[in-house]
Order: sequence, then C-alpha cells, then structure tokens
Amino acid sequence: MKIACVGAGPAGLYFSLLLKLRQPQHEITVYERSAPGVTRGWGVVFWNDLLDQLRSADPESAEQIAQAAFPWSNEIVDVAGTPILHGVSQGYGMKRRQLLEILVRRAQEVGVRVEFNHEVTSASQLPEADLIVASDGVNSQLRQEAKGIETDVRPGTNKYIWLGTEKVFSTFTFPFVETGSGWVWAHAYGVDAGSSTFIVECGQETWAGLGFGTMPPAECLAALEKIFAAQLEGQGLIGQTADGLNAQWVDFRTISNERWYDGKVVLIGDSAHTTHFSVGSGTRLAIEDAIALAGSVQRHDEVSAALAAYQRERQEAILRTQIASRYSSQWFENVPRYIGLTPKQFSSLMRRRRSPLMPHISPQLYYWSWPTTREPPFVDTLRRLAGPVAAKVFGLLQRSHRS
Ligand SMILES: Cc1cc2nc3c(=O)[nH]c(=O)nc-3n(C[C@H](O)[C@H](O)[C@H](O)COP(=O)(O)OP(=O)(O)OC[C@H]3O[C@@H](n4cnc5c(N)ncnc54)[C@H](O)[C@@H]3O)c2cc1C
Repeated sequence: MKIACVGAGPAGLYFSLLLKLRQPQHEITVYERSAPGVTRGWGVVFWNDLLDQLRSADPESAEQIAQAAFPWSNEIVDVAGTPILHGVSQGYGMKRRQLLEILVRRAQEVGVRVEFNHEVTSASQLPEADLIVASDGVNSQLRQEAKGIETDVRPGTNKYIWLGTEKVFSTFTFPFVETGSGWVWAHAYGVDAGSSTFIVECGQETWAGLGFGTMPPAECLAALEKIFAAQLEGQGLIGQTADGLNAQWVDFRTISNERWYDGKVVLIGDSAHTTHFSVGSGTRLAIEDAIALAGSVQRHDEVSAALAAYQRERQEAILRTQIASRYSSQWFENVPRYIGLTPKQFSSLMRRRRSPLMPHISPQLYYWSWPTTREPPFVDTLRRLAGPVAAKVFGLLQRSHRS
C-alpha cells in the first residue's frame, strides 16, 4: 500500500515506524510542516505503563526513550507557600523535541520517508495513496475537510501557557499563588537534568485582570517570573521555541469525534481526541492509537475493515481517560471553590480531582467523609458505570442538538 501520514508528532511517527517494521512492503511517507528538530510545546510526562507498551511494540526505540526519560518522584501541592508532599507517585518527563527526534530517527532507519517543511492542508495535495493518516494534531485540517466525522469542540474556561525553565523540578510541583486579581498556578516537572516544563494556568478573569491578554511576551514572562519567584529560585522562564515562536496563552479545547474515519482518511492522536494536560495522557493515547491502527491494518486486507475495527477498539479504550480528563479540567476551572480549604485539605482534594462525586457535594463534607487520599470504593464503581452511560447520554444530546 501507499500510505501518507500528515504530521510528525508521536502518533504519525509511531504508526509509520511500527507498520513499516512489521510490513516493510508498504510505502510510507510522513509530511511535517516544521523543520527537523522544531516542535511546539516543552516536555511531557508519562509512566511505566507507556514504557511497557513501547517495549512490547518496538524494544529498540523503547530502550532509547527509557534511557532519555527523566525520572521524577512524588508530588508537592504548594498553596501560598505551604508545601504539602504526597509521596506516592513516580513517573518520567521528557522534552517533546527529544522524544520526536528518537521517533524520527527510528522511522527513517526502518525505511519511512519523513518530509519536513512540507505542509499539507488538504488531502487533495497528497500524491495518490491507499491510506491517509491525519496525525496533524488538535487543529487538524484533514479532519476539518472530512465528511461525517461530527467533531465536537469544547473550549475550557481557563487560560494556560506552556513554558519551560532551567530550574529542575525532580518532584512534580503544583504551586498556587494568590495575586491581586486572583489565583495563578503552575504544573511543573523535570524533563531532563537541566530543565523542566512549567505550564501556567489561571481563570479568565485573573488572566484579564493581570493584563496578560495585551502584554508583550517578554513582559508576560517577567510578570510570571515575579509571581513564581519563590518556586523558580532565581531561574527564569523560557517562552520561545526553537523556531523563534513565542509561547501563547490559549484555552484548552476538548475535541471528540463521532467517527474517526472518512473513506481512506483516518484520525489518530490529538486530531481524533484531546485530553486535558492535567491528566498527562495525550502522548500515551496517541501512541496507543498508533499501535492499534498499525495492528488493525496488519490484520485486515481491506482498508475500510481495518479502519472500522480501529475506531471500535480505540473509541472504547479512551473513554475512561476522556471522562477523567473532563473531571480533572473542571476541577482546575473551579479552583476558587476549593482554595479556602486548608492547604492539607486542598491538596488532598486536588489529588482526587477525577472524582465524579466531588463537584456535587460541599468540599468540606467530601474531605471529612473521606479524609485520606484513598477514594471510597463506591465512587470508583460509579465512575466505571458512569463512563459508558455518560458517553451514551452525551452522544444522544449531541445528536438531538444537531437535528
Ligand atoms: C500544555 C500541554 C501539556 C501536555 N502535557 C502532556 C503530558 O505531560 N503527557 C502527555 O502524555 N501528553 C501531554 N500533552 C498532550 C500531548 O502533547 C498530545 O496529546 C500529543 O502530542 C498528541 O500527539 P499527536 O501526534 O497526535 O499530535 P502532535 O504532537 O500535536 O503532532 C502533530 C504534528 O503535526 C504537524 N502538523 C500540523 N498541521 C500540519 C499540516 N497541515 N501539515 C503538516 N504537518 C502538520 C505539527 O507540526 C506536529 O508536528 C500536553 C498537551 C498540552 C497542550
């Protein structure tokens, strides 16, 4: 088959390299709009579950990723200078750029053609192909021209900006700082021995009140460095990517699609679905999509059968993470509801932010009913039951809204 992938992010690269590795007879080309080594966004986190999947899919690239991954352990929730340490989690951080470099090298090594500086805004610009993989991310242009996909886009109410810093956070840190216009907080984690990701988030009113909407980038970085001076310990924030572009304040958009393919065009990774950065799962889901799509293409002779099976498998598999993402992003959108608790209570509830019950009862009552970080078993049962039911109700509502 001739296969064209638009977008050299984790989804497109991993799909291409896996399929080529297993079925070298395919001719696979990845088209990427940026130059080699240029990527937007800093680092991402992941856990051992992703490394296990990578090891069983392609041990070679998995080993390189494992070697380059920066381990962090535990979490600190710091409310106005009172840090509460939670010693339970262990994960890894990695610069997006480094992850993509490993995947590009491996894809080229197994025979995938990667064409950089090649933007594709319509499938009609591609040479004849039997399968077109829309791995062009959250703003996918191929998705926008696909028919019958029924995309749902839900903008969040907070603003965030994806920055870096040379301060190394070897513990995942969430500093919450009160300003004259409201609370501002960050999600900070190390990505290598010399730098960290530093995502700053706040409500719209706080963002407008602090003047971030009209502030030039350098001034904005200086203001944020001042707000987070205690946590940054003298290090600055980095807002510019390798291609000289400045990081922008944006609204997180939750994307979902009723169908993931139209004819021979198939959605994968962020073009098919997004999950809020506070659940740290988008890269894992993109890689899992890639593994599932490569497997399905291998198993089926007909492209249409392969895409139908892929859609069935992945739409069901991501449901739990999508629901967790919704609760988690809503929790951060409602920080003022929780911030009056003591730092210990606040941090405890923050760690349980995926609970479907918490938004519906008073935070104090929730905390005093279950003061430990362990969730009551019935909440987990509810979450599992609510998943498929919520998805059904959501689908019905969407359909009735459109008709
Ligand atoms: C602030 C933030 C923090 C995050 N943190 C984490 C985290 O900690 N852990 C985690 O797992 N996930 C995280 N994510 C999510 C993760 O970054 C994405 O889910 C993941 O990158 C999706 O991979 P992808 O390959 O689908 O898309 P992308 O990585 O977005 O790649 C798409 C590629 O397509 C290219 N492209 C776009 N349009 C075109 C075009 N027209 N022609 C050619 N090329 C094109 C782009 O240049 C890009 O290289 C975070 C996301 C955000 C916004």
